[in-house]
Amino acid sequence: MAWDFSTDPEFQEQLDWMDGFVRREVEPLDLLFGRMTYHAIDEPLRTIVEGLRAQVRERKLWACHLDPELGGEGYGQLKLALMNEILGRSGWAPIVFGCQAPDTGNAEIIAHYGTDEQKARWLQPLLNGEVFSCYSMTEPQGGSDPTMFTTRAVRDGDEWVINGEKFFSSNLREASFIIVMAVTDPDVSAYRGMSMFLVPSDTPGIQVLAHIGLGTEEWGEGMHAHVRYENVRVPAENLLGGEGQAFEVAQRRLGGGRIHHAMRAVASAQKQLDMLCERALSRTTQGELLAKKQMVQEMVADSWIQLQSFRLMVLHTAWLIDQSSTAEARRQIAACKVLAAEVLSAISTRAQHLHGALGVSNLMGFSASYGVMMGIMDGPTEVHKVSVARQVLKGYQGSPDLWPTEFGPRKVVGARHRFEEMVGDLDPTAEQRVAFDELLQRSAGDDETVKQMQAYLDATIGNL
Ligand SMILES: Cc1cc2nc3c(=O)[nH]c(=O)nc-3n(C[C@H](O)[C@H](O)[C@H](O)COP(=O)(O)OP(=O)(O)OC[C@H]3O[C@@H](n4cnc5c(N)ncnc54)[C@H](O)[C@@H]3O)c2cc1C
Repeated sequence: MAWDFSTDPEFQEQLDWMDGFVRREVEPLDLLFGRMTYHAIDEPLRTIVEGLRAQVRERKLWACHLDPELGGEGYGQLKLALMNEILGRSGWAPIVFGCQAPDTGNAEIIAHYGTDEQKARWLQPLLNGEVFSCYSMTEPQGGSDPTMFTTRAVRDGDEWVINGEKFFSSNLREASFIIVMAVTDPDVSAYRGMSMFLVPSDTPGIQVLAHIGLGTEEWGEGMHAHVRYENVRVPAENLLGGEGQAFEVAQRRLGGGRIHHAMRAVASAQKQLDMLCERALSRTTQGELLAKKQMVQEMVADSWIQLQSFRLMVLHTAWLIDQSSTAEARRQIAACKVLAAEVLSAISTRAQHLHGALGVSNLMGFSASYGVMMGIMDGPTEVHKVSVARQVLKGYQGSPDLWPTEFGPRKVVGARHRFEEMVGDLDPTAEQRVAFDELLQRSAGDDETVKQMQAYLDATIGNL
C-alpha cells in the first residue's frame, strides 16, 4: 500500500530553509520593485539577484525541477509543487530559484525539440540564468483559438522570413530571444501548418508597438509586448522542432506552464486565507470579533475547504506527471488551471471584502484581479473546461437504447432475474428455497409489478 502524504525529512528541511529565505531576502524585492511575475533586471538589481541565486545554488535548489543534464537537480514536479507553495508568495522568488515563466516552458521545449547547436546557443544561457526569453504566440485578433493566427513565415533560400503581429508577448523587453509561432503552410489545418522559430530579439524588423501593462500600471511601463514582425529574417536552422510541428510543441510547453501557475496559485491563495483569518480575529464590530459571526465563519470554512481541495488536486497532478508524463496528466492539468482561477478569485475577493475600506485602499495592495488574470493566461477557463469535459466523456458510452441504464424498471427487472437465477440453483424441496420464494413476493417487485415493467420495457424499447 504506497499511499503517502508525508514529505521526506531532508526535503522538509530544504522547504523550511526556503520559507525563511523567501520571507527574509526575497519578499522585500516585491515591496520595493513590484511583485508582478515579469521584471526588468538592470544593474544594480542584477547584482542583488545574482547574490541570492548563489545562495539558492549552494543549497542545491536552483531550477531543481529540471533534470541534472539540464542544470537542475531532477527533483520532479511533486517537489516543485511543494517548493512553489513557498515561491508563489513572491513575484521575485521564481526568478531567484530559476523556475520563472516563461523561461521554464521555453527551456523545456528547446531541451525536448532543439538540435545540439540550438541547445548550446539558446538553452544553456537560459539554464545558467544569464538571459531571459519570450514566447510569442497570441495574436491581437485571437488567443484562445490558434486557427485564427495569421503571422506567416515563408522560406527564402537558407532563411525564413516572418511577418505578422503578436500580442502579450511577456517579458520581450528583457528577453535575449523570442520563440515565435508562425504559419508555414496555410493550405493545411492550423494543427499541421504552423512552426516555431528561435528569433534573437535584436533581429532587424522587430518593432515593439507598445509594452502593455497590467491593471493600473503606467503606460509604457508594462512587460507584455504588442510586437510587429516585419520581414524578420532568421536562418533555416532556427526552426525549432519540425516544420508544421508548432501545435505539438505549444501543447507540451503550455501543459507544463499551466501546472506551474496552479502550484504558485496555491501559495497566493494561502496568503489571502492567512490575511482573511488574521482580520477575522482582529476586528470587532457590534460587540464581537468578526470571527464569531457565522457569515464570516462561512467565509473562512469555504476558503479553507476550497484551498485544501485545490492543493490536493495540484499535488496529485504533479505526482501523476512524475509517474507518467505531462500528456498523460492533461485532464488534471486543465482542471487545476480552472480551479486556480476560481479558488484564487473566491478567496482573494473574500479576504479583500473582510478588510472593508482598508481592503480596497492602496494601503494593503489586495489584487483580486490576479484570479481573473489566472483565468485568462495560458488559455481561458472555458477552453480548459471544454478540454476536461471532452476527456471525461471519452470514458463513457451512451445508453444502448431509449432508456438510461439506471432506468428504474430496467434495474428492477434485472435484479428480479438475478434473484430468480440464485433461487433457481437451490434445491426446490429445501426450506431455504421456500423462504426465498416468500421473500421475493415481499420484495419491491412482486410478480405482477415485474411483469408490467417487463411489458413496458419490451413495448417501448422494441418500438425504437
Ligand atoms: C498575464 C498574461 C501573460 C501572458 N503571456 C503571454 C505570452 O508570454 N505569450 C503569449 O503568446 N501569450 C500570452 N498571454 C496571452 C494569453 O495566452 C491569452 O490572453 C489567452 O490565450 C486568451 O486569449 P485572448 O486574450 O485573445 O482572449 P480571447 O481568445 O479573445 O478570449 C476572450 C474570452 O472569450 C471567452 N472564450 C474564449 N474561448 C471560449 C470558448 N471556447 N468557449 C467559451 N468562451 C470562450 C473567455 O471568456 C475568454 O476569456 C498572456 C496573457 C496574460 C493575461
